[in-house]
Amino acid sequence: ASYQRIAHVEPQVSAFLHLYEEDARAQAAVLDKQLKNGGDRGLLFGLPAGIKDNMTAVGTLTTCASKFLANYQSIYDSTAVSKLKNAQAVLVGKTNMDEFAMGGSNENSGFHPTYNPWNTAYVPGGSSGGSAAAVAAGEVYFSLGSDTGGSIRQPASYCGIVGLKPTYGLVSRYGLVAFASSLDQIGPLTKNVEDAAYVLQAIAGHDGQDSTSLNVEIPDYISALTGDVKGLRIAVPKEYLGAGVDPAVKESVLAALKVYESLGAVWEEVSLPHTEYAVATYYLLASSEASSNLARYDGVRYGVRAENAENLLDLYKKSRSQGFGAEVKRRIMLGTYALSSGYYDAFYLKAQKVRTLIRQDFEKVFQNYDVIIGPTAPTTAFPIGAQVDDPLTMYLNDILTIPVNLAGIPAISIPCGHSGGLPVGLQIIGKALDEATVLRAAHAFE
Ligand code: GLN
Repeated sequence: ASYQRIAHVEPQVSAFLHLYEEDARAQAAVLDKQLKNGGDRGLLFGLPAGIKDNMTAVGTLTTCASKFLANYQSIYDSTAVSKLKNAQAVLVGKTNMDEFAMGGSNENSGFHPTYNPWNTAYVPGGSSGGSAAAVAAGEVYFSLGSDTGGSIRQPASYCGIVGLKPTYGLVSRYGLVAFASSLDQIGPLTKNVEDAAYVLQAIAGHDGQDSTSLNVEIPDYISALTGDVKGLRIAVPKEYLGAGVDPAVKESVLAALKVYESLGAVWEEVSLPHTEYAVATYYLLASSEASSNLARYDGVRYGVRAENAENLLDLYKKSRSQGFGAEVKRRIMLGTYALSSGYYDAFYLKAQKVRTLIRQDFEKVFQNYDVIIGPTAPTTAFPIGAQVDDPLTMYLNDILTIPVNLAGIPAISIPCGHSGGLPVGLQIIGKALDEATVLRAAHAFE
């Protein structure tokens, strides 16, 4: 059914980079046989899944939507993928993304754009835009994305689905191609909150292969979905409904808060005073980490090697010039600059200090509240091409998702309305490792 649907809608949506129908059918046949022989059903038994193309899975290419890695075959399974396999999900294909997860529209893919299933003249968001569009268009039951500054939540919001960024360290990053290692986190994109709880249950947990993986007890996320939010204390940051937020988006969020009131929750306005510095802080830190992480693409060890190089330095130069797209180069230059001697203290170190202030803003609010609610993004999806030549405007789309990554805390985006025929996303942010409350609050609203 999944491949039939793909055949039907993929020409309009272009959510996938690679499809593996034969392998998927073989995998499904094995599951079928196991069941007939009296085996148990795994948590995600037989569910067709899309995987963002920055996670490795044996038998698939992992290109990160970069020409540099156009021929890169996964040589091992990322932990998230191997956990999905253990839960008996079926891997349908690898989804499109902004190159190396840098972007918010999928227009930075080195191969082709993805189109928003609600209106194909609009972007699906990014960088996990393929993962979001594939779920929204009914091509797969769920997908995995990665979120460094909003890349699960923002496309979920633009495509009218659910996207969860877990606490930093809850899901192993082993086998996730690194963009900004202190911010990257894998999470589910699903049709509803219950599905998100199931997928998170399957992929969360300690992994010795990732030194930043948290060694904590994993709660039962599914039984957290009680429908009860009586007495839930909601904080609404005034910075999240201020200037720059589309009036229709604001209206949808305020209407959602009314629903929470009617369910017995209480909400009050609070302040996260350092929000205005989050975008600058993020682009310094994420680009610094990216410039370091992407130093490994030298034309020797991974991916495509430039031809006719005169010497080693020339090989690096030619391979990187040909392999990387404009946005990736922009970030490498910004990051290398911020890390240079003489600039390190003024930019990188300063940004680290501001990151602490942003984290403390959240900690203060969470002393008195259970969750923070606001929009996921200031606007609904924008038309394809509208922002490609304007990186700063593009960066500002992430203003409401970035602070969460800097603080390392969990947040979900769920649909809460429409404007001009396009979905609006509601963001629910929780305390570190309190995914259960985030999911419970999100589920009650549905
Ligand atoms: N849009 C943001 C960026 O371009 C976030 C990307 C992400 O979360 N991977 O950096």
